[in-house]
Amino acid sequence: MKVGVPLFFFKCPPAARAVRDDSIAGLYSLHVDRFLGTRNARPVCNVPGRIPSRLTGYPVNDDRYTKLHLHLKKWLEKAALDYGMIGEGDRVLVGVSGGSDSLALLELLASPMVFLPRFSMVAVTIDPGFDASGGDCTVLERYFNERGIQYRIEKTDIGILAHSDFNRKKSPCFICSRLRRKRMVEIAEEYDCNKIALAHHKDDIIETLLLNIFYAREISTMVPCQPLFRGKFHIIRPLAYIREGLIKKYALERNLPVVENRCPTSGSSRRTYIKKLLDELEKENKDVRENIFRAMHHVKMEYLPGFGKLTHDAHELLQVGAVCK
Ligand code: SF4
Repeated sequence: MKVGVPLFFFKCPPAARAVRDDSIAGLYSLHVDRFLGTRNARPVCNVPGRIPSRLTGYPVNDDRYTKLHLHLKKWLEKAALDYGMIGEGDRVLVGVSGGSDSLALLELLASPMVFLPRFSMVAVTIDPGFDASGGDCTVLERYFNERGIQYRIEKTDIGILAHSDFNRKKSPCFICSRLRRKRMVEIAEEYDCNKIALAHHKDDIIETLLLNIFYAREISTMVPCQPLFRGKFHIIRPLAYIREGLIKKYALERNLPVVENRCPTSGSSRRTYIKKLLDELEKENKDVRENIFRAMHHVKMEYLPGFGKLTHDAHELLQVGAVCK
């Protein structure tokens, strides 16, 4: 007797996977599968009306759009949609320090979008003043011009100031990042930008959580979309779902003009210490970073000692038996 075994028992076809996921990542995976599988195939989807026409924005024969590029774009667009980072007609200031993270962010934002609405952008570099020769700025200037990206390079002495006697605080990073952020907001106002995109990635979010627990006595981190001045501006972090290692790999793949980090503190900051600590823990448990990230999405407030603590008034009520112990 012939026994029929359904095909999906062995392999779930990509279209079915996308329908089951019903998520942007699933649909994007489908597009990537189609795009990379058969180069001359038109994107096809079994979810009617879910794939916008902009899906064809990627020229199929362009070798720049590698599997890694599409993978990063998938997660960038997913983060942007999950947190409502970019709306139609937004003007985005992209902070570009010249490191691999910020250059990768700019490169990804400048490439065709599949699900995000149209927006315009300007790249802004706040030069902290460590490179007296100005060579780093010339490299970035050339790159922005080649890519046809509007840019502004702001020369400052913020880095020098943060390392001088003017700053009595132990860590120069506090004042340095604060002053750079302030200048960036001023420039955003000048260029009519309502969004400020920073290149903080998943590893930065994980490390900041530990930094705030270890040194600031609080449980908090960078959020993917943060309103400033009652919503006049929003700080957005489109790389929030992407691991640092993949971004570095992408910067190499695209041959991005990464400039050297000349800050004397960069190798010995608290962040570097946390990074090394996590690297050590990862030798024992390779999922440690991912687990920390996931833990931020499963906060059990009732199991934290700071939650449910009785106020002074409640204590007084307790004396008279009005509050349940
Ligand atoms: S590492 Fe250097 S450039 Fe970065 S925030 Fe700290 S002082 Fe500023």
